[in-house]
Amino acid sequence: MERIELTAAWAEGQEVLAEVTKESGVRASKCYQCGKCTAGCPVAFAMDKTPREIMRLVQLGLMDEALQSQTIWLCASCDTCSTRCPREVDIARMMETLRIIAKRKGFVAEKKMDLFHDLFLKSVEKNGRVHELGLILGFNIYGMQPLKDAHFGPSMLLKGKLSPLPHTIKDNGEVKKIFANVRKRGGKL
Ligand code: SF4
Ligand code: SF4
Repeated sequence: MERIELTAAWAEGQEVLAEVTKESGVRASKCYQCGKCTAGCPVAFAMDKTPREIMRLVQLGLMDEALQSQTIWLCASCDTCSTRCPREVDIARMMETLRIIAKRKGFVAEKKMDLFHDLFLKSVEKNGRVHELGLILGFNIYGMQPLKDAHFGPSMLLKGKLSPLPHTIKDNGEVKKIFANVRKRGGKL
């Protein structure tokens, strides 16, 4: 196991910790490491670090470890952890902020998850809602796995579970405004 010099790592991580605290509005120091967030997290079994461990890394200022973790990309934003936390720490919001900052710094541990997010958002921006078939095709093509799950396609199309063309909402202008606002505030979409 790699040895970590805590004092030096803490000093190094302070700038990013301040950025995370400011953007999320979450004070990691409130966490007393009870583990209730991890116990309720439906995705914890697949994470490389549990939500409690992510909170500990953030408390210690070990920001590179937190930002490079797969966990922040596997988080499903279900809010269970935030609801269960006896200290009212909004862990889900912290995960979201860590994803945003990881992306900004080019620390994306789960490239496919990031690709999925990008394609999903592009589809919503364009149509006002997601076009599943377009999303799957884009994900397979850009993810260099063109035939992944292709055998499900014909039966799903026949049963009407997938639509060949996107369904757009009536007034997509409002949705486009939301995206424009996020970009104006420095968000990367
Ligand atoms: S539930 Fe809250 S206090 Fe407990 S470990 Fe998770 S973040 Fe910390
Ligand atoms: S919001 Fe993320 S970290 Fe929290 S319980 Fe849901 S999946 Fe787990």
